[in-house]
Amino acid sequence: MNPSVVEAAPPAAEPVVRRPSLAGRTRAGLDAALAEIGVPEKERRMRVGQLWNWIYHYGVRDFQEMTTIGKGLRAQLAEHFSLDLPEVTAEQVSSDGTRKWLLRMAPTGPRDRGAEIECVYIPEVDRGTLCVSSQVGCTLTCTFCHTGTQRLVRNLTTEEIVTQLMVARDRLGDFPNRSAPDGAFVPNDGGRFVSNIVFMGMGEPLYNFDGVRDAIGVITDDQGLSLGRRRITVSTSGVVPQIGPLGDEMGTMLAISLHAVRDDLRNELVPLNRKYPIKDLLDACRNYPGLSNAKRITFEYVMLKGVNDSDAEARELVRLLKGIPAKINLIPFNPWPGTKYECSDWERIERFSEIVFRAGYASPVRTPRGRDILAACGQLKSETEKLSARARLMLEQGEVDAAAAAH
Ligand code: SAH
Ligand code: SF4
Repeated sequence: MNPSVVEAAPPAAEPVVRRPSLAGRTRAGLDAALAEIGVPEKERRMRVGQLWNWIYHYGVRDFQEMTTIGKGLRAQLAEHFSLDLPEVTAEQVSSDGTRKWLLRMAPTGPRDRGAEIECVYIPEVDRGTLCVSSQVGCTLTCTFCHTGTQRLVRNLTTEEIVTQLMVARDRLGDFPNRSAPDGAFVPNDGGRFVSNIVFMGMGEPLYNFDGVRDAIGVITDDQGLSLGRRRITVSTSGVVPQIGPLGDEMGTMLAISLHAVRDDLRNELVPLNRKYPIKDLLDACRNYPGLSNAKRITFEYVMLKGVNDSDAEARELVRLLKGIPAKINLIPFNPWPGTKYECSDWERIERFSEIVFRAGYASPVRTPRGRDILAACGQLKSETEKLSARARLMLEQGEVDAAAAAH
């Protein structure tokens, strides 16, 4: 597959003063912004509702387009705030339609260039899934995961999580009545391109509990971005004490990165297992609020050649999950430079999935998507970081594709 040429935003002139953006804020955050510029309290609820509608339902990028708000207040808002989204520093489009964006967050201080994170859009026949990040890097060190080799820089804020969806809707031409940017596909059936969200990008979402919870609140609000909670999946490596609260406070679908059926191996692959072993993890799963056959837990299992892919392990997996309404996702390992692991052979994956299937689980093997653009955890970012200054510049000018520039 040949990846298409990277389309990148033209290098933006650094603004001298950055006005804080309202994009991604909660209702309380918008209320605080209005209070800051002196909007009287009795008027604020109504104004928050108006801003909410323009920002999240229509996706407007300019206060002047907010025609239900008087000119005076619009000007005041524009003077103090912006509606900026994170900057798209690279966009890669795979030949299978997968899109990967490298996003630069607003700098948090004068010495900060702005943290970079990635976000991947995967179109399928019946859905469009956006894979979002919850942290810059990760504190956990799962040995097969490239993000695990990068240090944690920080948690993403609520705004930075919400705006990943906004960038995707913007780039896909998925906001109503807005002209799509060049290269966007435009929905022609009234449907939306992003129908599902998975927290499977960089970071451990349950280590950024409040940020993720508040972001999900904004994303699921039916006056705005309007995604159903059942269409959002939070994936965790197994932060046991937060699994119950996740169900209670976020009500989303749950995915568990299991990857091994014995503690000794899981201790190695997912070191958090030393703190929360398999038994505790599965107990937390059994007690997941709202669990039912209609709301199953997804168990992710990355297929590592000669490590966790035997028939005996497939049988043990089925035994362990007995009694838990579950789906099993076998994920072909996506290799990265320097890793000691290899992906299991295709025949092995098929054999493993057959055992799981015979036990009554539909076990779709997650087809690798966007392989030509390295669309796995942590990989676009690391490839881009390796680029020389010259290659980066070329990339920004859209002259070469990222894969070629990386070598
Ligand atoms: N930290 C969370 C969510 C992000 S990782 C978690 O661990 O669940 C999302 C999924 O991608 C996890 O199941 C993770 O194990 C898997 N993953 C990480 N690196 C991978 C790789 N190189 N190949 C295939 N899957 C990988
Ligand atoms: Fe972090 Fe998840 Fe990668 Fe483990 S698999 S290092 S928890 S991002």
